[in-house]
Amino acid sequence: MSRIASVLIPMPLPEAFDYAEPEGMGLEPGDQVSVPLGPRLIRGVVVQLREALGGNRPLKPVAERLAEPPLPPGTVEFVQWAARYAVDAPGQPLAIALRGARAPKPRPVRMVAATGVLPARPTPARSRVLEAAAIAMPPADLARAAGVSSGVVKGLVDEGVLAVREVTADPAFAPPDLGRAGAELNPSQAAAAEGLSAMVAPGGFAVALLDGVTGSGKTEVYLEAAAAALARDPGAQVLILLPEIALTQAVIARVARRFGAEPGEWHSDVAPPGRRRVWEAVAAGSCRIVVGARSALFLPFRKLSLIVVDEEHDGSFKQEDGFIYQARDLAVARGKIEDALVVLASATPSLESLRNAETGRYRWLRLAARHGTARLPDIELVDLRQTPPEAGRWLSPPLVQAMGETWARGEQSLLFLNRRGYAPLVLCKACGERMTAPDTDSWLVEHRYTGRLVCHLTGFSMPKPAACPHCGAKESLVSIGPGVERVEEEARALFPEARIAVFSSDTVFDAREARRLVETMAAGEIDILVATQAAAKGHNFPKLTLVGVVDADLGLRGGDLRAAERTYQLLAQATGRAGRKDRPGRALLQTYAPEHAVMQALKAQDRDAFVAAEMAERELAGLPPFGRLAAVIGSGPDAAQLDAFMQGMAAAAPNTPGVEVYGPADAPLGLVRGRRRKRFLVRADRGVDLSAYMAAWRARVRPPGQIRVAIDIDPYSFL
Ligand code: ADP
Repeated sequence: MSRIASVLIPMPLPEAFDYAEPEGMGLEPGDQVSVPLGPRLIRGVVVQLREALGGNRPLKPVAERLAEPPLPPGTVEFVQWAARYAVDAPGQPLAIALRGARAPKPRPVRMVAATGVLPARPTPARSRVLEAAAIAMPPADLARAAGVSSGVVKGLVDEGVLAVREVTADPAFAPPDLGRAGAELNPSQAAAAEGLSAMVAPGGFAVALLDGVTGSGKTEVYLEAAAAALARDPGAQVLILLPEIALTQAVIARVARRFGAEPGEWHSDVAPPGRRRVWEAVAAGSCRIVVGARSALFLPFRKLSLIVVDEEHDGSFKQEDGFIYQARDLAVARGKIEDALVVLASATPSLESLRNAETGRYRWLRLAARHGTARLPDIELVDLRQTPPEAGRWLSPPLVQAMGETWARGEQSLLFLNRRGYAPLVLCKACGERMTAPDTDSWLVEHRYTGRLVCHLTGFSMPKPAACPHCGAKESLVSIGPGVERVEEEARALFPEARIAVFSSDTVFDAREARRLVETMAAGEIDILVATQAAAKGHNFPKLTLVGVVDADLGLRGGDLRAAERTYQLLAQATGRAGRKDRPGRALLQTYAPEHAVMQALKAQDRDAFVAAEMAERELAGLPPFGRLAAVIGSGPDAAQLDAFMQGMAAAAPNTPGVEVYGPADAPLGLVRGRRRKRFLVRADRGVDLSAYMAAWRARVRPPGQIRVAIDIDPYSFL
């Protein structure tokens, strides 16, 4: 009896396609295959095999079973689960899962080595080559080492004295050394580590919330859980997810120290051959620890036993374009599929995770205080109405004074402002025109380093014009508000002797640069660091004793569901940088709203009170974590066509108890890349399967070709 293979293709197609299995191919679920799709052959993954019942129309056969590692069953199941959850095509997460499989292999390098044959005509130059050729090396290196021209090497190759081999630089991952001891834990850390080890020991799915202030030793504790997981089973694998590439570097170094072996590194800055290497080693089970960004969740783990989501509250775990997903939530789902322990770690956990901990769904492990003698910083609110900065300046007198004192003591300051560039807005003082991108509603941000105006949403940029493009007035464009570059300029004017650096995604392009800057800061070679959130988290800077938050109110202005929560988290993280070991720290928050609940909670360092108040508000409104949200974003080039479609979509919304649909409304960002945008917001009671509801709704409408509909389950952005 012949069989039918359902093959999932890494493209936005609604479902897997059926193909006939050629006689004797012996396919298994998870196999990578090549199948015909239209006129082309394309790579896909077998997700199911079943007996052909006959009488069906003939199917095209699978063209080839690829000599590539299959996706393990857990990965196949996870991909399908994720697609259903996100109400998207399963080919989308599959494309993420295959990213490493499709990357080019590390390129082979040509090496020459001596064969043992002696040269027919020995010369001093030839002898020097033979001596150097004891070690295999590329021909050019050999010529250089022997001090001869490349012709001499080539002549010896032609004579058979030297042989050329192609070698692939694809070193295996060293196994973790489980005999190494970790840090000696303090009693609170030891209790948490034992709690996690006890959860890992029996195997099986469970979730723990590891909750402790910055510097309390969460990393030390979850590394102990990793050691326990790895020791339990020689095939066990561990995944550590981090929200930012800059943070992966520090954790990779700590993992390497703890286990005497480099972990697999997975994020967008890893070059394709490096990704291929990690992907294959993870699939083979030989790479046992991976440290990576959110997409590492889609790697083909064979035996995933522990997933750590560090800084679990961080909004960067939400992927907003393409396949839209929240990696923290998917980590819990993957943990369930793989029977793994999931550890969510944070100093300021998300309300969702705190709620799950309060209700007992997650085990709640709290780390008491900072490790050793390190104390939390004193937090002061600087009321900008009372002590404003001078006109055209952004640092208030109390903050400037504190910076001066810190510098005089030889200690470091961090000025935190979550805004890239020089100024967030450029306007014409003659006509009032605000500079925006031609096809997008967002303001252009001025960057002085590059002299350009940049759209942070689309990447559009243009040189700053000499005259207003609207009214033509010359030299009328003024920069409004501060970005990190402008604060740096002010700090330089105030402290011309100080060593000042900027840390933002514009100045720190890649992981290596981030590591270099973090190391320079940690070594005390920077006096004042002006940073966006890229530097606000996770790093340990022993001489940092002052954190100045330039605009503490910034995040509150967005006004979305999580504005207060996010502001609290970000500011708690940023201020938590100050004061380590034996040096007490100070944090000064510049605010126009010192009476706001967020500012008061920060000042009192009373997270629990803040969380309780915020939870009460959310519960009253039925918002997450007490209810569910989803957004629908419709976009298209033509406003009238989009309007008509969205009205039709509103009429098609299924009527289900416990679900409310709001909209369609103009999106706050009404125009992006020339496309108009409109939104629905859907609120549902917790018991509702919101993904199923959204799938049913979507199935009732058929958007015209130019209109795109994106569904965002549990939206973080409301723009
Ligand atoms: P967190 O992850 O909670 O911010 P870390 O694990 O990074 O905390 O710990 C903060 C600093 O304190 C690190 O430099 C870490 O090496 C050190 N540390 C924490 N616990 C211990 C311990 N038990 N022994 C030695 N050093 C520790």
